[in-house]
Amino acid sequence: MGLNLDPRQRAMLEEMGIRVWSPLTQAALATTTVQPEPDALAGVSERVAPQSAPRERTVQAAHLTAPAPADLQPRVAGVESMGWAALQQAVAGCRACALCSGRRHTVFGMGGFVPPSADQPPAADWLIVGEAPGEQEDLSGWPFVGPAGQLLDNMLKAMGLDRHREVVLGEGKAAQGTYIANVLKCRPPSNRNPEGDEVAQCLPYLRRQIDLLQPKIILTMGRFAAQALLHDSVPDVHGQPLGKLRGQVHRYRGIPVVVTYHPAYLLRAMGDKAKAWADLCLAMQAFATLTCSKPGVDTAEA
Ligand code: SF4
Repeated sequence: MGLNLDPRQRAMLEEMGIRVWSPLTQAALATTTVQPEPDALAGVSERVAPQSAPRERTVQAAHLTAPAPADLQPRVAGVESMGWAALQQAVAGCRACALCSGRRHTVFGMGGFVPPSADQPPAADWLIVGEAPGEQEDLSGWPFVGPAGQLLDNMLKAMGLDRHREVVLGEGKAAQGTYIANVLKCRPPSNRNPEGDEVAQCLPYLRRQIDLLQPKIILTMGRFAAQALLHDSVPDVHGQPLGKLRGQVHRYRGIPVVVTYHPAYLLRAMGDKAKAWADLCLAMQAFATLTCSKPGVDTAEA
């Protein structure tokens, strides 16, 4: 796929620390394919997991249970058939796992085009799925704020996307909205890895969000988010490093899924930003294939 990057997009890539004309990035773009050979994936895995690299969160099997504090309550029934507003209310009042006790806000998600009715989901072609709220997200109630959120916004802008406004493709004029959500809606204390029972209790909310949003493509950020969504489609997904999941287009209930690093990880592992850009290019390529549009973009205020 040829990318026609305008000066703004190139500036955004530089914000990510990526020189788009560098041999490394060009090589990454040249080798980005929808279905790479297994051997190629093995090579990627070795490169993305050096012993000295910061470790990402790892998902734990979603069948574990933990002793329930006395104030826990079963998740409200019928999540799988709720409308958008009811789903938001269910999350806001949820006390189905122990994370409810330490939270200041639940973090439901944000983005997309504003719907005409509160019970309709925002219109969003792109869904970005992160892992769990951090301290600043817990304080604000919004996903991806702070430095990691700023990097995510720059990554999105490099792709011609914006969580805050409508983006219109240059040729087809097809609008693209971007919605951002996490697997867990409450912050794990000290940003620790999510526990299995927390995932088991919270994942139905994300699944219902996806059912309602019906995005054209999903970009997961971080190993934990990838494993949570690919649990049913990728064998032994919990035993695979992120590098094994990158570089190909997976499926979640028929929706293409591309896996990349979490921005918080990229802030600590600057050397992997070029690989993240290759992942974004793969996602743009998959999206362009879906929409039969060219990747050059213009933006328009919502
Ligand atoms: S993390 Fe999810 S399941 Fe746990 S209390 Fe928060 S909303 Fe409920």
